[in-house]
Amino acid sequence: MSDLKVNVKDLNKNYGNNHVLKGIDFQVKSNEVVVVIGPSGSGKSTLLRCLNKLEDPSSGSIQIDGVDISDPKVNIDQARENIGMVFQHFNLFANLTVGENITLAPTQLHKKTLEEAQKDARALLETVGLTDKYDALPASLSGGQKQRVAIARALAMNPDIMLFDEPTSALDPEMVGDVLEVMKSLAKDGMTMVVVTHEMGFAKEVADRVVFMADGKVMEEGTPEQMFDDPQNERTKAFLKKVI
Ligand code: ADP
Ligand code: MG
Repeated sequence: MSDLKVNVKDLNKNYGNNHVLKGIDFQVKSNEVVVVIGPSGSGKSTLLRCLNKLEDPSSGSIQIDGVDISDPKVNIDQARENIGMVFQHFNLFANLTVGENITLAPTQLHKKTLEEAQKDARALLETVGLTDKYDALPASLSGGQKQRVAIARALAMNPDIMLFDEPTSALDPEMVGDVLEVMKSLAKDGMTMVVVTHEMGFAKEVADRVVFMADGKVMEEGTPEQMFDDPQNERTKAFLKKVI
């Protein structure tokens, strides 16, 4: 059995005439933290969305835990349960309390009893530093708090991979640190993570591997040291000059 959690081969995605992903090869090992960087429009979100089938690939293969998710025989809801996703805009249910947001999916999908789900939700809120917010409504929370609830909600399904799409990009600067701290502690606990971010400090500190995308292709990848201290590709060099 290979220890590849994610194995993407020659992935192509077209929107009409717009060839957005052009032959992407992308692997993530168990317990690995991969940070994806690259200019706006390079296809980073599309890649993440293909990984949990929010988008269908035009061609190529995507294996998650050795299972080809484009196989029509695969139960995609079941496959998705193992992949947590956190978006730039938190997408919390505004009419539900924080506790209800976190317990909803595990109870509706019969993964946990209500009692278990509530107990877990309280523990998860402690993990993300929001113990006292169980009964709060999302509208009463700051952006950073909402994002930490969104992370807790994703974790409530006990995923074995977490995908983050620019989780701090919509936050006021003073909120960013708390969210990154939660992500760092997840990484430390061995969560397999793919993180699209412009937070280069996070990438340097937490990533096992950094992948640079541009124009729908993986242009270069390597350890943070390789990518930040000694990039080889001209596009990587130009991008890093702009963001660092
Ligand atoms: P990034 O996340 O790196 O900024 P995206 O994956 O969001 O890039 O977008 C890559 C390209 O795909 C862009 O040209 C964008 O306009 C296009 N695109 C993304 N989603 C859609 C969609 N649902 N329909 C049509 N075009 C899309
Ligand atoms: Mg994006």
